[in-house]
Amino acid sequence: MAILITGGAGYIGTHAMVEFLEAGREVICVDNYSNSKPCALERVKKITGKNFKSYEVDLLDYDALEQVFKENKIDSCIHFAGLKAVGESCQKPLLYYHNNLTGTFNLCSLLSKYGAKKIVFSSSATVYGKPASVPITEDFPLSTTNPYGETKLMIERILKDIYASDSEWSVSILRYFNPIGAHKSGLIGEDPKGIPNNLLPYIAQVATGKRECLSIFGSDYNTHDGTGVRDYIHVVDLAKAHLKAIERAEKVTGVEYFNIGTGVGYSVLDIVKAYESATGAKVNYKIVDRRPGDIDECYANPEKAYNVLGWKAEYGIEDMCRDSYRWQTNNPDGYGEG
Ligand code: NAD
Ligand code: UDP
Repeated sequence: MAILITGGAGYIGTHAMVEFLEAGREVICVDNYSNSKPCALERVKKITGKNFKSYEVDLLDYDALEQVFKENKIDSCIHFAGLKAVGESCQKPLLYYHNNLTGTFNLCSLLSKYGAKKIVFSSSATVYGKPASVPITEDFPLSTTNPYGETKLMIERILKDIYASDSEWSVSILRYFNPIGAHKSGLIGEDPKGIPNNLLPYIAQVATGKRECLSIFGSDYNTHDGTGVRDYIHVVDLAKAHLKAIERAEKVTGVEYFNIGTGVGYSVLDIVKAYESATGAKVNYKIVDRRPGDIDECYANPEKAYNVLGWKAEYGIEDMCRDSYRWQTNNPDGYGEG
């Protein structure tokens, strides 16, 4: 029985594909390559020495997606596919709602129709909005500040309603904190289009000379050094959490929510220093105004994931920086033409 991996060619999806294949699981990738390239899947095959089926299918195309279910025995799904840029979601809300929600409707209808009622969903710490305190536990109040976050929260609620209507479902909602780093092979990693929005890809491009200087967005936050604090998690650790989540979904029904973070908060300046010490490269930076919508501090209490799934992060910040640098150095233009 195969596990359907939607968005499997993306940043987190490729790393998850590696972990699933190395654990001996059968996976089938579905991706429309709107934010990824097919060659990323070739790299997954190279790392693992294993083959798998992949389909260029848009989740918005119900018939094409159903064909994948007809041709394969699918038992469960890891649902990564979605658009994820916060700024773009504010400019193009309809695109985000349509892609992320309609794609999920089609997927869930087919998972139900073909009796594959087990799903692990990629949610985000963004559903905690501006948390009243840190560390954050799963029972904190939920709110969002942009259409991207709204799609995550809406999908969480939709999945909860699906389970309420049909108790055969197993729903595992993973709320990721800040995934960074890359596989140690240096063959797969994050490949942002154009100017990176996120901190680590930007730092990687400064450290390798592709960009001149990091702009640090604000130094007057209520944190130990005034710069924003986040919970950075190695993407390989994050990938492994999906394996634990699907193993549990195979055993129990219900809806469960898990924070997937390290439980440690690092400021932007901490990260700059860690990157320099882990790689020996220089990260030039300047302080500029705050980025609208950013919060002071966000880090997880990840105990529930440990207690229930038996998962915890293994990699530290130096590993994350070193692996990010290796990926960036080996692939200065990401996957290139793909
Ligand atoms: P990514 O963009 O690298 O991967 C998403 C993949 O989904 C891409 O390969 C894209 O082509 C595909 N896709 C998008 N819409 C599709 C559609 N309609 N049909 C088929 N394929 C489609 O992003 P990622 O960083 O790997 O994130 C994976 C998931 O995790 C996303 O749902 C994202 O919102 C969520 N998430 C990411 C982060 C992060 O910081 N990277 C944090 C929290 C949550
Ligand atoms: N950040 C920054 N410069 C950048 C990108 C990000 O100073 O070019 C800061 C940002 O203000 C936040 C932290 O780095 O405090 C993490 O930002 P990112 O966009 O990576 O993640 P998110 O805001 O989604 O947590």
